[in-house]
Amino acid sequence: MRSPRPPFLSLMNLLEQPFQLLHGLPLTAFVTSRKGGVSQRPFDTLNMAYLTADDRGSVRTNRERVAMALGIAHDNLLIGHQVHGAIVNQAEAIELGETPGDAIVLTRAHQTAMVVVADCLPVIFYDPVAHVGAVAHAGWRGLAAGILTATVQSLMASGAIAGRLAVGIGPGIGRCCYEVGPEVIAASKPAPGGVRAGSADRSFLDIKALARRQLETAGLASARIEILDICTRCNSDLYFSARAGEPTGRFAAGLKLLEEPPYNVETWVDSYVSQSSRP
Ligand SMILES: [Zn+2]
Repeated sequence: MRSPRPPFLSLMNLLEQPFQLLHGLPLTAFVTSRKGGVSQRPFDTLNMAYLTADDRGSVRTNRERVAMALGIAHDNLLIGHQVHGAIVNQAEAIELGETPGDAIVLTRAHQTAMVVVADCLPVIFYDPVAHVGAVAHAGWRGLAAGILTATVQSLMASGAIAGRLAVGIGPGIGRCCYEVGPEVIAASKPAPGGVRAGSADRSFLDIKALARRQLETAGLASARIEILDICTRCNSDLYFSARAGEPTGRFAAGLKLLEEPPYNVETWVDSYVSQSSRP
């Protein structure tokens, strides 16, 4: 579906902070678009991934721009080596671009991590009491492997409570465009109504609904899962989309933890919970 929202709530025209549920918290949640970088077609322009065939110097410049907008150095914008699995790493363990895994858990102020995507789902987690968060990369393989459940478990090991977590799911392939084969449906086990018939033996899968269901099964509150209704393929002028044509670049979504709030956290959390549970 076409995005009904303005493309930018910008911080130096590079970062969107798109999740209502994560506003007002001691963090910066961000999603980059294709805009504001230096990469040439077909990676134009803010390609955030060295794993593409893009010029490495251009990716470096793009990442430096985003890091600068976040107030950090290039090497502190943490990312692992995404493998479409269920490995979760702590931020301290990340060797930039090397450590295999699809989620990173943040437990200290100023830690910043991202995932890169082009149709897969970027998922951002935060617990306002434990002040811990995570970013995860979830495509159908990662969802089938259990990446979201594994991320929730890692966060709980760091002091989070599942029912307290707020989650933002960023732009990703929509049910309008995600036509898959029977092997994907078999691995994904969508709920009834989570698929509709496509051509021949293929089906359209609602991968965002699948992610929501897995998070709810892991104990998250439905009211604290925010899913952006932005299909990357339908909006491939704004976001990289593998299904809109390869080769292509990757946009990023991530999280920076800020200092813990200076006010009484229990009072503040009460007001946060009552606000976010409003219809
Ligand atoms: Zn679409």
